[in-house]
Amino acid sequence: MGSIWEDRSFSGETALVVVGAGITGLFTALHYLREHADHRVVVLESGPHPVGASVKNAGFACFGSPSELLHDLDTLGETVAMQRVEERWRGLLELRQELGDEAIGFEPVGGYEVFRKDDPLYTRVAERFDLLNTALRGIVGKDVFVRADDRIPALGLSAEHLTWNALEGAVDSGMLMRALLRKVQEAGSEVRFNAKVVSWEEDAHGVSLKLDGGAVCTAKQVVFATNGFSRHLVPGCGILPARGQVLLTEEIPGLTLTGTFHVDEGYYYFRHYQGRVLLGGGRHLDMAGETTDLDGTTQQIQNALEELLRTLILPEKEFRIAQRWSGVMGFREQGGPPLVERRSSRTVLAAGLGGIGVAVGIRVGREAAGLVARGI
Ligand SMILES: Cc1cc2nc3c(=O)[nH]c(=O)nc-3n(C[C@H](O)[C@H](O)[C@H](O)COP(=O)(O)OP(=O)(O)OC[C@H]3O[C@@H](n4cnc5c(N)ncnc54)[C@H](O)[C@@H]3O)c2cc1C
Repeated sequence: MGSIWEDRSFSGETALVVVGAGITGLFTALHYLREHADHRVVVLESGPHPVGASVKNAGFACFGSPSELLHDLDTLGETVAMQRVEERWRGLLELRQELGDEAIGFEPVGGYEVFRKDDPLYTRVAERFDLLNTALRGIVGKDVFVRADDRIPALGLSAEHLTWNALEGAVDSGMLMRALLRKVQEAGSEVRFNAKVVSWEEDAHGVSLKLDGGAVCTAKQVVFATNGFSRHLVPGCGILPARGQVLLTEEIPGLTLTGTFHVDEGYYYFRHYQGRVLLGGGRHLDMAGETTDLDGTTQQIQNALEELLRTLILPEKEFRIAQRWSGVMGFREQGGPPLVERRSSRTVLAAGLGGIGVAVGIRVGREAAGLVARGI
C-alpha cells in the first residue's frame, strides 16, 4: 500500500505522459508545466538518454538557404512560404532566449549556400535574389542574404559562388538537450529512460501505456512526440521516417572553414566543429532505402559524402574520418509543416519536424501542450 508521500510525489494520478524525450517532447512537458505546475507529468523515453534526431543532428540553428526558400515560394506560394520562415525565425529567437546561448553552445557564425561550378541552382537564385530579400524584409526588417563570393578562398572551398546570411548559427545539440532536460526536470517533470512504450489503450478514464518489460503507466492525456518512429504507436498517422547520415572528420590542421553550409537545395549540409568538418545528407541518392527508422550507414551515401569533402569542402587537404552515424527524421507523407493534432479525446500527436526541429521544436512543443490543456 502506498503512503501519502508516495501518492503526492511518485505515484499519484499522472495528468500527462509525453512519449519521447526529444526536443519536441521535452518542450511539450515544459510548456504544459508552466501552465499547470501542480500536475504530474512524466516523459517516457525508450533510450538510456534521448536517442532520437535531437541528439543525432548537425546542429544548424537553421534559417534556410536562398534556393530552399525559393523552392518553397514556388511550391507553397508567398504567404505560406513566409509563414514557415517566420516560424523558424521566431523559434530560434525563443530557443536562445529560453535556454541561453552559452548553455546551447550557440555560435552566431551565419549560414552559407554553396554553388559549384556551373550549378544551375545559382542562375535561379541570382535572378531572384533581390525579390527574396524584399519578401524577407517583411519578417526580419532588413535584407537577409548577401553575396559572399569573395570569402571562398579564405574558407578553402572549391566553389564558384557563395551567399551568406547573418541570422543562421550553429549549436551544440548535446549541450542543448542537456540544458533542456535539466529545465524540464527542474520544472517538476519526471523523465524515465529505458522506458519504451510498446502499446497503449484508451478508455473513459484515461490511457494505459504498456512498456517494454511489462510495466504499465497510466495518464489522463498522452502526447506522442515520437517523430520518425510515430507510425509504430500511431498507425496511419502519415509520418514517414527519413534517415539522415552524417560523418565527422578528425581534426584538420589549419582548417579555416567556419559557419553552417548548405549545398544542392539543402540535400547536403556541413559545418565546422572544433577544427573538424561535420557533413551530412545525400538521402536523395536513395530515397527508398533511406525511408527507414533503422540505425545505420550505407556505402553509397558515405562514399558520396567523402567525395564532396574531396572535391568541394577540403580540396587541398588531407583528411581522415573519425566518426559516422545516422539519425531518423520524421516527415509528413503529404509534405507540409510539423503535425500537431488531437488523435482521440485523450491523445495528441506532435511529429514531422523534418530537418528543422532545432528551430521549430520549441514552438511545436508549445502548440502540443496547448492542445492538451484545452482537452482537460
Ligand atoms: C542527421 C540529421 C541531421 C539533422 N540536422 C538538423 C539541423 O542541423 N538543424 C535542425 O534544425 N534539424 C536537424 N535535424 C532534424 C532535427 O534533429 C529534428 O527535426 C528534431 O530533432 C526532431 O525532434 P523530435 O523531438 O520531434 O524527435 P526526436 O528527437 O527523434 O525524438 C523522438 C524521441 O522519441 C523516442 N521514442 C520513439 N518511440 C518511442 C517509444 N515507443 N517509447 C518511448 N520513446 C520513444 C525516441 O527514442 C526519441 O528520443 C536533423 C536530423 C537528422 C537525423
